[in-house]
Amino acid sequence: MTSTRVMHRSLRATPPVAVRGQGVWLYDQSGRAYLDGSGGAAVSCLGHNHPDVQAAMHAQIDALAYAHTSFFTTEPAEQLAARLVEDAPAGISHAYFVSGGSEAIEAALKMARQYYVETGQPERRHIVARRQSYHGNTLGALAVGGNAWRRAQFAPLLIPVEHVSPCYAYRDQQADETPEQYGERLAQELEQTFQRLGPETVMAFVAEPVVGATSGAVTAVPGYFRRIREVCDRHGVLLIADEVMCGMGRTGTLYAVEQEGIVPDLITIAKGLGGGYQPIGAVMAQERIVQAMQQGSGFFQHGHTYLGHAMACAASLAVQNVIRRDHLLERVRTQGDGLRRRLEHALGQHPHVGDIRGRGLFMGVELVQDRATKQTFDPALTLHARIKRHAMAQGLMVYPMGGTIDGRQGDHVLLAPPFIISDDELDQLTARLASAIDAAISEARA
Ligand code: PMP
Repeated sequence: MTSTRVMHRSLRATPPVAVRGQGVWLYDQSGRAYLDGSGGAAVSCLGHNHPDVQAAMHAQIDALAYAHTSFFTTEPAEQLAARLVEDAPAGISHAYFVSGGSEAIEAALKMARQYYVETGQPERRHIVARRQSYHGNTLGALAVGGNAWRRAQFAPLLIPVEHVSPCYAYRDQQADETPEQYGERLAQELEQTFQRLGPETVMAFVAEPVVGATSGAVTAVPGYFRRIREVCDRHGVLLIADEVMCGMGRTGTLYAVEQEGIVPDLITIAKGLGGGYQPIGAVMAQERIVQAMQQGSGFFQHGHTYLGHAMACAASLAVQNVIRRDHLLERVRTQGDGLRRRLEHALGQHPHVGDIRGRGLFMGVELVQDRATKQTFDPALTLHARIKRHAMAQGLMVYPMGGTIDGRQGDHVLLAPPFIISDDELDQLTARLASAIDAAISEARA
């Protein structure tokens, strides 16, 4: 392609043209195949061109593509909400459908605020979130996120949000600290932050149960989220679990928080909700929050043109039906174990692999210059970007990122393949990744 009028992510290079997808494979214009090792950005949970999802989309478009939610609801929206609520943590009673993850975060923040206004606590306005987190790119969601690099140039435009430490055992758990003590220390930090702000002025604490786009599948230490829940409960602060990336089965349970033993007040979901077949996200809300608004003003003062889009809901319902019918949560657990075993075998002793982590089919690899000191590579080398380029050259999609570690950029690779990935494809994924990492490191050193 010689010229493009699409404003691509890179304003200097045009990516290959994707023309076809099948299962875990995407094909470009020249017929080259790419193994989708990251599901795009942890989106394509069923892989590409799933016949059942296609059939549901065809049926819906033959009936009705769209009806504005000021006037109508639709069958697919009602059925999808019922399905998501049925499988949700206790007390979650409603789904509010938007078009993606950032919109879900924006809606969750406004729902939290309206809940407090309508229950007579208008002084609650502070939002607390964590450093090294990502919650979206709209201004509100960007403000909540703690990714220093993404925020930097927009900082003057962002609403104030307090950031506390992430739960990142590989880097931050002290040598003389048990995981329980580390979790307790972080809960105390949250308590102190609430105290400093005035606990009666805090509205919400926002966290990803498994951190995705800034650190590469970082799970919390056992008990961390239970302690965080206690701190929030003590002060009446709403806990918003951002499951945009880690939710909808990615870690082996439909909602990632199920494995933490806590019930959030609001859960945001997107990505795997529609599996990439349509743009869709949602806020899953506790009954008492919905009831407060029902009994108060009677409506949620928020909305977009494409709320509850019928095509998006139909596609998403089909995705969720296939996950249930084909027992894909079990498959995520077995294939996830297989992926971990393969990564440990191929990269566990690698001199520049510091950590292999994650849960289910949501795995991260952290690259370091020195395993003993955990020293990161010079950020100017942009190792993560080189890994992505070498992986693409080998026909593999992985999601690389440079998170901010100790004020420096670190390098991670996130893996989130479709739930249907086979053993043979896991072998190919691991071999191609190992080879891309080696090629990228040699190139960076040259
Ligand atoms: N929250 C999390 C945890 C995410 O990973 C993302 C996307 N990477 C978002 C929110 C924003 O979602 P979207 O890109 O669909 O707006």
